[in-house]
Amino acid sequence: MFEMHQMQYKRIVMLTSCALTFAAFAIWRIFQSVAERGGILGNPDVAPDLYILSCTILMTCGVVAILARSYEDHKQITQAERYDQDTGLPNSASLVERLNKSVKNGKTQSEIGLLAIGIDGLQSINVARGYGVGNQVIRVVAERLNAAIGNSGTLYRISGDTFMVCANGIETESELAQIAERIIELRDEPILAGGFTCFVGFAIGAVLADEEISDVQGFVRKAELALLHTRTQSTEKFVVYSNRLEHSTNRLSDLEAGFRQALETDQLEVYFQPLIDSASNSIVSVEALARWIHPQLGVIKPQEFVRLAEALGLNEKMGNVVLRKACSAIGPIKGLNLAVNISANHLLHPEFIRDLKQILELTHFPPERLELEITENVVMDLPVRANEVLRNLRRLGISIALDDFGTGYTGLSYLKELQVDRIKIDSKFVVGLGKSPEAEAMFASIVEIIQQRGHKITVEGIETMDQLKFLETFEGFWYQGFLFSKPLKYIQLLRSDFLNNLAVDPDDQLAEDHTEPKIKLVASS
Ligand code: C2E
Ligand code: MG
Ligand code: MG
Repeated sequence: MFEMHQMQYKRIVMLTSCALTFAAFAIWRIFQSVAERGGILGNPDVAPDLYILSCTILMTCGVVAILARSYEDHKQITQAERYDQDTGLPNSASLVERLNKSVKNGKTQSEIGLLAIGIDGLQSINVARGYGVGNQVIRVVAERLNAAIGNSGTLYRISGDTFMVCANGIETESELAQIAERIIELRDEPILAGGFTCFVGFAIGAVLADEEISDVQGFVRKAELALLHTRTQSTEKFVVYSNRLEHSTNRLSDLEAGFRQALETDQLEVYFQPLIDSASNSIVSVEALARWIHPQLGVIKPQEFVRLAEALGLNEKMGNVVLRKACSAIGPIKGLNLAVNISANHLLHPEFIRDLKQILELTHFPPERLELEITENVVMDLPVRANEVLRNLRRLGISIALDDFGTGYTGLSYLKELQVDRIKIDSKFVVGLGKSPEAEAMFASIVEIIQQRGHKITVEGIETMDQLKFLETFEGFWYQGFLFSKPLKYIQLLRSDFLNNLAVDPDDQLAEDHTEPKIKLVASS
């Protein structure tokens, strides 16, 4: 039986009682008249009662129609309240209801496991291909998730890119992990949507009810926090909530709450790490590295907040803040190039190039001095679209560097298709240089292939003289690493020896208020 909305229920009861009373009255009158005068036909006293009876029959039909309509409306309202319109899956209200029911029954719920699933890469698809394609992808993902889960549990859609599985009969973390594994494996299957081939990844946070669930909202929140942890702090794609996580998730939720405000209130600062040209042994560029100066927690590194920005959909905003600050700081130092890290979503955003042009104009920064650093996942996710954007950027005179080369999936064979000028060889290939012949041989073969393809090279993470000695056997590299300098605050960069031979344009007017000291005041050692 369905649950009736109270107002409708009252109205229907009233109308039905009226109709039934009139009908009973009319029938009683007809019987009485028939008993007194005999027969209906030709009996004038029966006519008004027949009229009343017909009316009541009509009224009853009306009530039945209203009832049927109410039932339909109610079904639709219930559907909208408890089901997601795009996928037809039950939503978060249904999940809470389901968990509440289990708790109300007073049973121990140790066998319930909750998995929060985040879809990675959906944002890029939305911005690059449009929300229509994104929605199609979501529908395919929902079907595949349902198939992967089978009868181990029920799938719910919680928000745009988050699903949850409420799994029954789960007693151990390894059982949760088995479900998670089946889901994570789906990332290898291409999705055809709107004529495009798309790929998405999966991040999962899970929680196991180890005691009776007394606080359903808290239980759901734990799964969500585990997911946030997976997305922002972990190298794993699956994390189970535990008390050990409590501290970091507390910090994480503090950061989550503060990040939006950080962008509004200018808490984001840019540090600069020098890049050294091996030929001249002098500074040739600086890499802009974001730091969040949190009012209570102090300096927070990008490892903690870059992925958080992505999870909160604030990537573009953050990226534009860094670009603007970096360009306005480095612009007046003539002869110094600038490298800025750009995340995948930001690069693929339809307004990226327009915003970038505006920033360059506003800060008077020549595009030829700018290098944008991208990572392999941009190219992996949307190779055609990414190359199109990169080509347009290069037409503007901006250079492109592929960052952290060797840490992702991109094989060397991909290189020739990439619209990049420079490859930054990741520090993991640098660690063994100067002490391990295998590491050196590996490094040399990577360099050979990159140079054959015509790309320039920056070597990241140089920390020791032994590494540098080995690197000096090659030519044409740019060097970056703690051996030369850690990332510096702007004021430290200005006061460093690095800038000794560079001209600073004394007339260069900074385009906007800069919280850092004006460059034209100091450019000496
Ligand atoms: P990345 O682009 O590869 O930047 C280089 C990172 O390596 C920096 O870490 C730098 O401090 C560190 N590093 C440099 N030399 C050495 C060395 O000799 N030894 C070691 N152990 N580390 C070295 P940082 O500043 O913590 O940044 C980490 C990553 O965060 C960056 O890696 C970049 O991917 C990302 N990131 C930083 N700023 C931004 C930003 O504004 N936007 C975006 N999207 N990502 C950013
Ligand atoms: Mg970088
Ligand atoms: Mg790097």
